[in-house]
Amino acid sequence: MFIIMISPECAPVAKVGGLADVVFGLSRELEIRGNPVEIILPKYDCMRYDQIYDLHVDYHDLWVPHYDHWVHCTVFAGMVHGRSCFFIEPHSDRGFFSRGVFYGHNDDDERFAFFSRAALEFMYKANKHPDIIHCHDWQTGLVPVLLYDIYKNVGMTHPRVCYTLHNVKHQGVTGEFILRESGLKPASEYFRLDRMQDDGNPFAINLMKSGIVYSNFVTTVSQQYAWDIKTSDQGCGLGHTLYTHSDKFGGILNGIDYDVWNPVIDRHIPYNYSIETINDKYKNKEALRHRLLLRQEYKPIIAAVGRLDHQKGVPLIKHALHYAINNGWQFVLLGNSNEKSLNDEFLAIKAQYNDHPDCHLEIGYDEELAHLIYAGADMIIIPSLFEPCGLTQMIAMKYGTVPIVRGTGGLTNTVFDVNTSDLPFEQRNGYVFYDYNHHGIEAALHHAVGLWYSFPETFRQVMINGMRYDYSWNNPGQNYLNIYEYIREK
Ligand code: ADP
Repeated sequence: MFIIMISPECAPVAKVGGLADVVFGLSRELEIRGNPVEIILPKYDCMRYDQIYDLHVDYHDLWVPHYDHWVHCTVFAGMVHGRSCFFIEPHSDRGFFSRGVFYGHNDDDERFAFFSRAALEFMYKANKHPDIIHCHDWQTGLVPVLLYDIYKNVGMTHPRVCYTLHNVKHQGVTGEFILRESGLKPASEYFRLDRMQDDGNPFAINLMKSGIVYSNFVTTVSQQYAWDIKTSDQGCGLGHTLYTHSDKFGGILNGIDYDVWNPVIDRHIPYNYSIETINDKYKNKEALRHRLLLRQEYKPIIAAVGRLDHQKGVPLIKHALHYAINNGWQFVLLGNSNEKSLNDEFLAIKAQYNDHPDCHLEIGYDEELAHLIYAGADMIIIPSLFEPCGLTQMIAMKYGTVPIVRGTGGLTNTVFDVNTSDLPFEQRNGYVFYDYNHHGIEAALHHAVGLWYSFPETFRQVMINGMRYDYSWNNPGQNYLNIYEYIREK
């Protein structure tokens, strides 16, 4: 099967969050299974060009319809760690993808509507006929609309569309001009509640909703999140649409890349280890303390790694940090935020604990330190308000670091509580709390740290239980192939 991914992100060249890892990891798995994949991306000026091999012009003069004129584009091709990628560069005064950042401009809706149209125009002109177009998040929600209402009429009848929702908090709610921009007319055809009209604002077009309505199949990144967004306010207004389209909607848990996240072969950690040599994890704990100037003493290290975002439960992270220090445990945080005020808040806490021998905060993005923390910490907290899938808990488990999570979205599908899960003990791999408050996280921390101090052998078994789980792309890869097969045959 020939698959084309149309995506605003792909790791490691254009990465903001987990979406980038999914596009790369899934594409890789599909290719390992013998299915050629091509990935179409915007050619951002701020990409990691050092991660692209053999970047060259693939298609010189691509003219893309835009309102009542055409925009001249050049399409580049290059390999990103073995994946075949195409990068669309528009030559327009608007500088759609030369803004120094991936997102965050007032015209993001127009930028990505343009990208969606350009990706299809490129496929059409370059004579690409994939079996499956797999598109991602609101930025590419227009792709199935354009495919079925414009490009099908000029001969692109073959491809079927799979659309993945990575986070429904951002939906691309925009104005009627998007229809004019992309050549979709008459507007009355699309301004309908069963098509592109936003459920909350009758004068707005909702790009994510459009993707859901027009695709052949819609997935999201965990079974629990699929349920949450269909049945609760976590759907942010999309619940009704998802409910209406239930027969073509489901959750598939993301995988992680065990070539990157694996303590047996990890090049970023000083001591490699496996279940058999798990004691070597403690050499990494020493190394982590050494690097972060923490005291070497018999006590657990609790970690937090991730974006400092409302979604991630910032108030509970802060509370856990103070609580751990007050109880004489150690706490390590690696994180950053797009919001200056949040970064400043954490920088103030960092200053407060500046010379503290049991606490270190690193405010920034540091891939290498992240690896050392996963290897060196005993536990990791993920107290998210909501979590579509979450990769941190799966990565932590591979490193024998026990996750303490709030039971929401993908966290529920991957972490099974040591005390309360129905599963046999060998499958219990962490701690889950539900109450989004201080009491909730304190109780979970006490259970985890209590076991660590009082029953170290049982704690070690929980670590091993987590390390045994297979959260690679193996299962999700097969699940996506099953969906592709299903929609091809329909
Ligand atoms: P999200 O996609 O919502 O940010 P995920 O848990 O799905 O959260 O993925 C987060 C990924 O980003 C993990 O691989 C995590 O290690 C990494 N990460 C997040 N923040 C940082 C940081 N400040 N430094 C290094 N890696 C980070």
